[in-house]
Amino acid sequence: LVMNSFLRSPLKPRCAVCDYACDLPNAVLCTDCHALTFRAQTRCHTCALPMDAMAGSGTRCGACLRDAPAYDETRVAANFDAQVRSVLHRFKFNAQPGLATWMAQALAPHCQGLSDDALLIPVPLSTQRLRERGYNQSLQIAKHLSVLSGLPLRPQALLRTRHTPAQSTLSLKARRKNIKGAFACPERLDGLPIVVVDDVMTSGATLQEIALTLKKAGAARVTNAVVFRAVLEGT
Ligand SMILES: [Zn+2]
Ligand SMILES: [Zn+2]
Repeated sequence: LVMNSFLRSPLKPRCAVCDYACDLPNAVLCTDCHALTFRAQTRCHTCALPMDAMAGSGTRCGACLRDAPAYDETRVAANFDAQVRSVLHRFKFNAQPGLATWMAQALAPHCQGLSDDALLIPVPLSTQRLRERGYNQSLQIAKHLSVLSGLPLRPQALLRTRHTPAQSTLSLKARRKNIKGAFACPERLDGLPIVVVDDVMTSGATLQEIALTLKKAGAARVTNAVVFRAVLEGT
């Protein structure tokens, strides 16, 4: 009984998956669920899709070999599976302020070894989407990641030039068309390595368009740093 009341103490948050008490005050998942969600996986170096462990590190998936994306590399913390989706959904409804901190903490270990002069740029939202939602989750994650990694944050280096319908309702081909020309760099980025920060990578169409825009502005290298990677077609 004593143990049970301790576990239900309001000072300890409940795990969003199994409801067990979390060890840390700002945790979203308990230690076990965290370890399972963020377990190491062999991924395509370019697009971060999970690959057969036998493929080794630094290799590319078939899709990236056939049609190389404009970005050079993608770092992710975990897959965007049904469980992660429901956790994020619940937290977005509750507008949990600790969520971005938690996501940045999960992503930070995957951002080691990046160039010291790299700039962190969050995926920008259109002013209309920003008004609807009230905040840019990617910017919040990038702010925390900047503190954790020591890399400078430059949100003003990439602008959203027009509003586009939500990508989630479209096919891959339609997504690419929908997002084309939606971003602009107000200044040259000649020779600079760029790290593009986002919460979830789905088809990669938005990150592809951003990388094209950054490279056109002179960026030397574009690395995506994304917390969650969707692994199923059409997610
Ligand atoms: Zn749990
Ligand atoms: Zn790939």
